This record gives sequence, C-alpha cells and structure tokens, in this order.
Amino acid sequence: MNKFVDLYQSKQRIKSKFYDVIEPNYTFTNKSLETLVQYHPTKTINEVEYFVYRIKGQGKKILFMKTKGYDESTIGLNTCLENYFGQYSDRKTFLINIKYAFRQAISNGKREKYLLSNTDNGVGICENCKTKTEMAIDHYPISFKKILADFLLCEGLTLDDLLYIRCPNENIIKLKDLELKQRWIDYHENIVNYRCLCKSCNSRFGCYNQ
Ligand SMILES: [Zn+2]
Repeated sequence: MNKFVDLYQSKQRIKSKFYDVIEPNYTFTNKSLETLVQYHPTKTINEVEYFVYRIKGQGKKILFMKTKGYDESTIGLNTCLENYFGQYSDRKTFLINIKYAFRQAISNGKREKYLLSNTDNGVGICENCKTKTEMAIDHYPISFKKILADFLLCEGLTLDDLLYIRCPNENIIKLKDLELKQRWIDYHENIVNYRCLCKSCNSRFGCYNQ
C-alpha cells in the first residue's frame, strides 16, 4: 500500500499495471490490490482468492474478484482508492442523485399512462388498504431497485461508473450518457408493472427487500 501516493497517480498506476495489460479471463492475485479492496466503503471483503477481468455488457472490461465463500463479484478499485485517500464523503450524495436520474428517465412513459388511467388527478384507491387518497405509483411485483440492478448487471456497470448532469433550467438531474439512458428506458419499460398505493403503504412496503 505504500505505493499508493496520491489519488490520481494511483488510478493511473492501476490502469497501466493491471487494466491495460491483463488479458480478460486470466485469474491473478496481487497483495496490494488485496489490501486496497479492504478500503471499499460499502463492501465487507473476505479473503480474496483471485481477481479477473471479464468482458461484459457493451464489450467492456470489468474487474471481478472471487472471495472465500462467495461467487465472483465486481469490484470498483477507484471507489476503494477514493475512500483510501479520504475523498469519498460525496458518495452518498452521488448515489442519491444518480438513482434520481434513473427514476427521472422513466417518469414519462408507462408510469404516466398508468397514473392517468388509474387515478383521478392523482387521487385513487390504495390497492393495499383501500383508502381513497392521493396515490403513489409503486413498481410491482418487481421493484425499481431490482430492475435497475439487473439492468446494470446486463450493462456490466455499477452506479459508480456513471455520471449525471444537472439541468439548472429544469431543476432536474439527468443521466449524462444518452445512449445508456435510452437503453435503460427500453429495458425498464419492457419489464415494469405498477400498482397504486397510498403514501403510507408505499413507504411501509419500501422495496420488498429485493
Ligand atoms: Zn394504503
């Protein structure tokens, strides 16, 4: 770990030493990387058995690791580095905003139609408690979280790989990659079903632990 001097240099070093030279599907181990992944801000990482680059989604080379007792999973080294250098405090805000951008992208399609045909100006009958009140439109039976997770898996991406832009005029946040946005809309619209819930049922159901 003493080789990680500053964030930018470390990112470049990882790129030139690993990403650029290691062939896909070649499994390898490396002590520095094993130490580094322990700095992932949200994952608790067991003993690492190996690292491997796999080709996923749009032909992108993605780093996976295999830890003892678990299947291979993706690991974002830049995220670990940012946390190691104490530059990860903005992560929470980033995640909230990027998820908002995914929601924003799908707000006008089927959701809008569902709202118009199942409520009267937003007022409807809760499918759970039968209260007549202002409705929240809930993803059901497959949660938004699950659809998004599956989509990202297909694309070989994690939220950390993505960027959003702020539109000051409209006061909204949008996905920066417009092609990705369109693929997301198509993917989501193909799978999604909705139901009407009152706001209290909606927040109580959360995302059904999916
Ligand atoms: Zn209800």
